[in-house]
Formats: sequence, C-alpha cells, structure tokens
Amino acid sequence: IIVAQGVSKRYGSFEALKGVNLRVKAGEVVVIIGPSGSGKSTFIRTLNRLEPHEGGSIFVDGVELKDGQNLDQIRREVGMVFQSFNLFPHLSVLNNLMLAPTRVRKVPRAQAEARALELLRRVGIEEQAHKFPAQLSGGQQQRVAIARALAMDPKIMLFDEPTSALDPEMIKEVLDVMKTLAGSGMTMLVVTHEMGFAREVADRVVFFDQGNIVVDTTPEQFYTNPGHERAEQFLSKIL
Ligand code: ATP
Ligand code: MG
Repeated sequence: IIVAQGVSKRYGSFEALKGVNLRVKAGEVVVIIGPSGSGKSTFIRTLNRLEPHEGGSIFVDGVELKDGQNLDQIRREVGMVFQSFNLFPHLSVLNNLMLAPTRVRKVPRAQAEARALELLRRVGIEEQAHKFPAQLSGGQQQRVAIARALAMDPKIMLFDEPTSALDPEMIKEVLDVMKTLAGSGMTMLVVTHEMGFAREVADRVVFFDQGNIVVDTTPEQFYTNPGHERAEQFLSKIL
C-alpha cells in the first residue's frame, strides 16, 4: 500500500534522506527506530506530503505523490498522530473529531457526530466529548488525536513518537489503543522506541541511520541481533 523508492530530501546542503526504500503492505505494522536526526520524522512526513520529497518516488495506495497533485486524496487516506497531540484548543473534543469530516468530506453533522462518539468510545473517552483539550490529561489528548485521525477513515496511520510526551502511567493507555487498532488490520507506521509495543505488534522494525534505512527485519531479530553496528550501539543506549 506504500511504495517508497530512492526517496531523498535535503535541507540546504544537509541530506536528511538519502534514497530511502520501503514497501509496506496493507495491514502491516512497521516500527521505525533510530538515532535523533536520522530522518525518521522527515520520512514519515513525506508519506502524507507534509514534507515534499525531492528525489525518488512514493506511491500510496497506487497514487503517486508528486507536486501539488492528489494532496486532498492523500491526506484523506493517510492519518497522522504527532508527539504533541496538535488538537485544536478552541474546539471541544467532539468538534475536534467532527471538523475535518464535515468540512473536507462534507459528511452531514449528525452523521459526523455519531461517528465521532463511536470513535471516542473506541478509544475509551466517550465521557470527555464535551470538554476542551486543555481539560484532558496527556494520554486522553493523544487518544483524542488518534480518534480524530480515524474520523477521516484513513487507510494508513502514521505515528511520530506518540507516547514520548506522556507521563509513564499514560503511555500504556495510548499504546493499548494503538494495539487494538493494529489488531483491527490498520496499516501503521510508528516511530517509537517502545520495545514492548514493537515486539508485540510490529511485523517489521526498520532502523534509520543518517538518512537511510540500514536494517529492515522482524522485531525478534532486531532486538536480539540486529546485525548492524550502529543499530547495536543504539540499542545498547536505549535498552
Ligand atoms: P528525532 O529522533 O530527534 O525526532 P528524526 O530522526 O525524526 O529525529 P528528523 O526530524 O527527520 O530526525 O530530522 C533529520 C535531520 O533533518 C536533522 O538533522 C534535522 O536537523 C534536519 N531537519 C529536519 N527538519 C528540518 C527543517 N525544517 N529545516 C532544516 N533542517 C531540518
Ligand atoms: Mg523525529
């Protein structure tokens, strides 16, 4: 469902991505890991065109990402969840979920509301529907962010360190939602250092180093013997 070939990207003279190749099948869960500055965020942001890539090609569900073309379709098909929730602070939880479906997809309000409540139930915070983001805990806010992305019925969900800004006791509730989502067959790319999640849920772990994927393997293999010096060094620091 995702085919990235030779994807490159520079910021000035700095090469942030140096010809990244990755294929992800529908329903696969891929965990992305790697040192700070290795290009993880840049890469997943190219997949919904938050960052345009320069070299190479990216196809999402058969549609090529290039220039300004197909942007609406791609954004609809690819949901994204960030480290810093990024909820609309002036909108209630319910309205955060209803905004894109009613504005972009022209879903009638009553239908969008019913769907929003269903999604909030799915992430376990239906009772918070009428609060504002600032009134929620970090874990609750992140679950709203996941529900908001799901409200557009994406085919692919991208997560960029979704639990890094959370207190330890809130990490589990977010990971549990993500596990359930993975179990439902969603195609997911997840930048995270949560080894438990990767081992339990991921089909593959890819390790980024200096703008490229240098290891692409199973979680079992990756965490026992990644077979790459930089990956081993990295694991020895985080485990
Ligand atoms: P982290 O683990 O810290 O989130 P990362 O692997 O996600 O790191 P990226 O955010 O993709 O790394 O950044 C890759 C490199 O590109 C870094 O060296 C960063 O400084 C640089 N970079 C990222 N965004 C920009 C930008 N908008 N302008 C200039 N340089 C950038
Ligand atoms: Mg990053």
